[in-house]
Order: sequence, then C-alpha cells, then structure tokens
Amino acid sequence: MAHYSINNIDREFDSLQDLITSTPERDLPIFISKTVLKDSYDVLIVGGGIAGLYAAYKILKSKKDANEKIQILILEQSKRTGGRLDTDLFIMNDNVLKEEEGGMRFTFEDMPQLLNLLVELGLTDDIVPFPMHLDDNNRMFYRGKTFSRRESKHNNYKIWRDLYELKNGEKGINPTEIIPKYVYTKIINSTHDDQVFADENTVARQVLDRLNTAHKKYLSGAAYDKTIVLSQKEIQAIYGDHAESTTKHIEVSAPGIWQFFRLAFKWKGIGLNKWTLWALLADMGYSNECIQMMAKVSGFNGTYFSTMNAGEAFQLLMEFPTEPDFKSLRYGFSQLTNVLIDRISELNTDHC
Ligand SMILES: Cc1cc2nc3c(=O)[nH]c(=O)nc-3n(C[C@H](O)[C@H](O)[C@H](O)COP(=O)(O)OP(=O)(O)OC[C@H]3O[C@@H](n4cnc5c(N)ncnc54)[C@H](O)[C@@H]3O)c2cc1C
Repeated sequence: MAHYSINNIDREFDSLQDLITSTPERDLPIFISKTVLKDSYDVLIVGGGIAGLYAAYKILKSKKDANEKIQILILEQSKRTGGRLDTDLFIMNDNVLKEEEGGMRFTFEDMPQLLNLLVELGLTDDIVPFPMHLDDNNRMFYRGKTFSRRESKHNNYKIWRDLYELKNGEKGINPTEIIPKYVYTKIINSTHDDQVFADENTVARQVLDRLNTAHKKYLSGAAYDKTIVLSQKEIQAIYGDHAESTTKHIEVSAPGIWQFFRLAFKWKGIGLNKWTLWALLADMGYSNECIQMMAKVSGFNGTYFSTMNAGEAFQLLMEFPTEPDFKSLRYGFSQLTNVLIDRISELNTDHC
C-alpha cells in the first residue's frame, strides 16, 4: 500500500491506477435491457443526470418501510451516468489530476440544497477548495491584448473603450455591471414610456419584493412563507389575457422566483421569456460592440447569442457569483452522481 494524494487528501491505494479505477462512473442501478424490461413501472425517469438520479433517490427515500416496493425505471440514452457532470481522473507525472467536462464547482452560499444533499450523502469530508484567484492580479485576454483586473479599472475603465467601439452611454462602466446594475434595473423599474406596461411591471415588482423578502428569510434560516399567493387583482394586472391559465401560488425558491421573473416582467409589453437577450439589449439601444463585450466578459456566450430566452439568460448571468468561494469534490463532481447511484442501489432492493 502506498500513500497517494488528490487535492492534498491522502489515501492508501496499491497504485495510482487503483485510485482512479476506484471511482469509475457507475452503471445505472436499475438495469435496462429490452430482455428484462417489465410491463409496467411505478415511476419512469428520463435521463440519468443529477436531476434524474436525485429524483429516483428522493422517491426511494420516501418509502414508508423497507418492504414497500416502488419500481423505478431510469432511461438513459448514453452509455454513462451523470449527464453534464462528467469527471475524468488521469495520471500525469505521478500525480492524479481531475478534468471536468461539465459542472465542476459549487458554493455554499448560493446552493444550500446541494450542501444539504452533500451532508445527507456523507460527502462533507470530500469537499475541497476550488481556488479561482479572482484578485486584481488575475489576467485577461481580449482582442489580442492582455491586462490585469486592476488595469481594466484604470482611468474609468478606459481599456474597454479602446478595445470596443462603445457608444457614449456605454463608456466608463464596468462591463460586468451592465446586466445586473443597468439592464436588470431598467426592466424591474420599467422606465419604458408605455404606461400600460409600466403598470404591469409595477405590480410584478411588488410581488417580486415579497418573494425576495421571503427568500432572504429562508437563506438566513428564519421561518419563511414557502409560497406567495397572488390576489386575483395582481394576476389580472400582471398576466392580463393569460390570467385564467396562471397559477396564483409562486414558490419561494430561486427557480420559483426566476420563473416568476421571466413570465411576469415585460419589455415593451412582450414577456422576457419571448425575447432573446441579444434582441432585448439591441432593442434597448446597446450597440453590437457593447453586447459582444458583455458576452465575452461574462464567459457565457450562449446566454447572449443562442435562442435561450432573456429571462433564463438573466438567471444564469445574475445567479453566477461575482466573488465566489468555490468548492469542489475530491474526485470531481461525478463523485456526487456516483454516490447517489450507490445509495439508490442500496434503497432499491428490487433490481430488475
Ligand atoms: C461546461 C459546463 C460547466 C458547468 N459548470 C457548472 C458548475 O461549475 N457548477 C454547477 O453547479 N453546474 C455547472 N454546470 C451545469 C450542470 O452541469 C448542470 O446544470 C447539471 O449537470 C444538469 O443536470 P441535469 O440532470 O438536469 O441534466 P443533464 O446532466 O444534462 O442530464 C440529462 C441526462 O438525460 C439524458 N437524456 C436526455 N434526453 C434523453 C432521452 N430522450 N432519453 C434518455 N436519456 C436522455 C442525457 O444523456 C443526460 O445523461 C455546467 C455545465 C456545463 C455544460
């Protein structure tokens, strides 16, 4: 037995190769093959990514006792589990390195449900730092020029107007602040001329304030309302023609609040879920150069240039922490899905 280390945590293995093969991606616990498929299942889950696996785990955990049988089938189209959580471990110069193909890091502050799950699965000892070194010495590379974060702020963010042909209102602003500080505020406060739409957004803003207040209580650990109930008047004011088909219960959770945001808020009378971010910004008067700059700085090109709706794009851009204290798992994010599968296998004693 020799001591090997990954992320400065020592473990004993016969060889580095053993360390790697001790953490392979798991087969699906519920074996899928045309020859063994049953005629019916209690639950069918499509996709063996974290969402599908977590759903299976929660359902099996809800069993009243060990004898209760809940038959679940997870259908996964690929040959591996984990979906967009996909860690590869490999050896380089006698060190084990992690390579993440997809999700790689998390924070405690912004992902309380994930932290709860890690505690429940007994994975807290395997949480390791994911240093980003986002200090002012961090260097960037844009349009053939390299400079530090400190230099990017010099002279009222002058470097950005040297690199991009910005219009007057776009100069002298930290590019990372345009979306959260200016665009978001513009939508929420509905400064658009059209009074009818401004009124709709005013009611939506009042509801959003209630949701955010309840959510802050939840984050602080205080008692909070799990849902906000909209009055008929609010529903009518916000959703107008679609009022009939709208739910009056809004869940106080990050996904619930963002869903409300994209369905309730409008720009020029058109819901944010009907705009792409690029079209919205262009309509607001932002130059193409400025949009290119924001997309590059955000690191999330897809949010700007894909068909993703502007409401979803806001969620992605604004939920991403600016000064994060990121963590990861010792064997990478796949460790989470692997352990989930082990638990599912333990809970599901009725393999088919
Ligand atoms: C490059 C990258 C970096 C990321 N970084 C982070 C990060 O640092 N931190 C973080 O928290 N998140 C990150 N994410 C996001 C995170 O990886 C995803 O949010 C999460 O993995 C999604 O899980 P899911 O189960 O919803 O979907 P997926 O992981 O996409 O799982 C869906 C599964 O369903 C299967 N499937 C799809 N359609 C069918 C079908 N018709 N039949 C059968 N099977 C089907 C797929 O093969 C897949 O296995 C990142 C994502 C990417 C791509």
